[in-house]
Amino acid sequence: MLRIVFLGTSASISTKQRDNTSILLYNNKKDLILLDCPGSIVQKLQRLNLDFTRLTKVIITHHHPDHIYGIISLLHCQFRTTKKITIYSSKTSIKIIKELTKLFGLQSKDYPRITFVNLFNKKRVSLSGKVKISAFNNTHCRDSFGVNILYKDKNIVYSSDTAITDALPLVNRSTYLIHDCTSSSKFFKKYPDLYKMHTESSQLKNLALKTNPKLLVPIHFLLLAKGEFKKIKRELKGLKNVFLPKDYSCLTIK
Ligand SMILES: [Zn+2]
Ligand SMILES: [Zn+2]
Repeated sequence: MLRIVFLGTSASISTKQRDNTSILLYNNKKDLILLDCPGSIVQKLQRLNLDFTRLTKVIITHHHPDHIYGIISLLHCQFRTTKKITIYSSKTSIKIIKELTKLFGLQSKDYPRITFVNLFNKKRVSLSGKVKISAFNNTHCRDSFGVNILYKDKNIVYSSDTAITDALPLVNRSTYLIHDCTSSSKFFKKYPDLYKMHTESSQLKNLALKTNPKLLVPIHFLLLAKGEFKKIKRELKGLKNVFLPKDYSCLTIK
């Protein structure tokens, strides 16, 4: 059984109820896998009664602060408790993390030894048990990517921050699609630059109607305008199989 816990569901600006987007995956409590690493990951795992020293696999989809800044705090917390950690990312983000660990003095043997894996150099990587991942280019920023996760015969696509892209891997009736849904169409029309890097809810509805995923999970909400979440919900209305996560919502895949 694979558990997917949405540790955070907001875009770059968190709200009272929602922190920056990050997702935890595990199919046994030994290996915890994290998709994107904003702040307070250790506290979030403790709230779930999970041992944070078991978090030894972290995937960073791009170098924007809301997806990367917590890595320093995570490594700092794992002082003398976690021997090694593997960070799967791109050339750009790996370079930044290397520089940050150096700046913060986290390269001594008291901290986890980091193995960096550039996902673009691998076709597919086996993480733990039956979980395998591969990266695909998305449309967001330099070197950014989404992740295709295979678990037994199920596939989960986490597109990360992205505009609607043709590079999305095959989505069909057996796919769990976790997709950027930054704001409503009204908000994007007000700030059209967002179209270049993110997806709004009416675009996401069209994508879901076209691809017909088993479950659509919109995420990465930028809830700055009044009533924004209601507008997003309204624009997604009519879709079957939508799961709108809150922080700490969990999906179980058998
Ligand atoms: Zn983001
Ligand atoms: Zn971003």
